[in-house]
Amino acid sequence: MKRNFKILFVVILTFMLAACAPQETPPQEEEEASPSNVIVMIADGMGTGQMEVARLFEHGREGELFMETLPHVALARTYSADYDVTDSGAAGTALANAAKTNNGMIGVGPDGEELTSILDIFKEQGKTVGVVSTNTVTDATPAAYVAKTEDRGNQAEIARQIYENEYHIALGGGERFFQPEAQDGEDLIAAFEEKGYEIPRDRNELASIEPTAETRVLGLFHPSFMNYVGDREILESEEPSLVEMSEKAIETAAQNEDGFFLMLEGARVDHASHAADFGGIWREMIDFDEAVEYAVNWAEEDGDTLVIVKSDHETMGIAASEVMDTESFKEIGVSPEYMAQQLEMDEETDNYTAESIREVFSEYANIELSDEEIEEFQDNVWDGNDPEGRLVAEHIVGWEIGSIIAYYYDGGVMHRKTRARSDSTGGHTANTVPVFAYGVGAENFDGILDNTEIPEMIADISGFEYQVQQD
Ligand SMILES: [Zn+2]
Repeated sequence: MKRNFKILFVVILTFMLAACAPQETPPQEEEEASPSNVIVMIADGMGTGQMEVARLFEHGREGELFMETLPHVALARTYSADYDVTDSGAAGTALANAAKTNNGMIGVGPDGEELTSILDIFKEQGKTVGVVSTNTVTDATPAAYVAKTEDRGNQAEIARQIYENEYHIALGGGERFFQPEAQDGEDLIAAFEEKGYEIPRDRNELASIEPTAETRVLGLFHPSFMNYVGDREILESEEPSLVEMSEKAIETAAQNEDGFFLMLEGARVDHASHAADFGGIWREMIDFDEAVEYAVNWAEEDGDTLVIVKSDHETMGIAASEVMDTESFKEIGVSPEYMAQQLEMDEETDNYTAESIREVFSEYANIELSDEEIEEFQDNVWDGNDPEGRLVAEHIVGWEIGSIIAYYYDGGVMHRKTRARSDSTGGHTANTVPVFAYGVGAENFDGILDNTEIPEMIADISGFEYQVQQD
């Protein structure tokens, strides 16, 4: 009897297991979800060193940046067609057009052939598209999404292409490139206005826009780059923060039921890195990280959005050294560029006065320079390549000031001589850069990627064919 029960039990168990087993149907390709909206966020010049400086300064050893909490992470290579080390033009072109080009070029291949921007692919689908940057909206990174030119310096032409192609949203600096002086006498801002664009000029005007599905916005908040976060108080700036610009861009774009594509850039992480300005890197990175938090929280609520957070290249080999003097860096409240503007010229020597150099370093950076160091600084700001023996450009004077401060307070950074000899990039490096992904399709981003693969993957996840251009 006992044995019969056992057999019966085994028979029943076998039957039950068979009933529970999956049906023998042919394996099906699971239909992957496509996001309706894509938000690409770029911290220009951000490597893991910039992240670490910001993390330690803001949150301490055991803290974390918001971007570090995102669920998918990859690393990207960044080389350009003609250099191991890319500039923002070639890097932006790779990230926006899925193709390598030469340093200095925007939206075209090395032979000048026009490429296809991922932003245009989304625009053709009836989606709202736009770019936001703390740089000029016409500088390399936003330009790579909205323009085609062999020379990134041609920002007036880039402004004109934004106008002619009627991109829906452009927020940032660079007002002077839209002015009649840059546009053969035509007032391009007035022309935008005639097309029905809102033209906010400060944070209040931006905040007061109540967008509808028809709203188009050209927000120009500075003649050139928007001011560093750290300089805004002393300059009594009325500029919106990157978070405020990102909020309004997303709010406006989200009015379109067919979805949107936005590129939001924290541009001045790169500029602070060129200047070896560790306090600036910290503040610009946190400004960017807050914008990431806003965008990801919005995407979480929306449930139909892919957010990619990435960098175009690393700048200056920034590192948190063992002996880095965090407190002294944090006490410096203004940028080296602001300090450069406080220096006084000596008419006799055509260089900055020793006294003003001494005072600026003492007042803003708490550093007492020796006579020898002051002479060395005067030599370093003298442009050896200029036959008329003039000084280097003001922002490069800022870079020289920042390099001295970084040396004093032990920030890990590329030597100023290596930076000065880096003609194509002014001190970028080939270090791989981080890529974080959140939302619909985010799981595709892992491993080591080439920067050109990122827009291909975004297009693919969104269900579009990326037409890589052949010449
Ligand atoms: Zn740069």
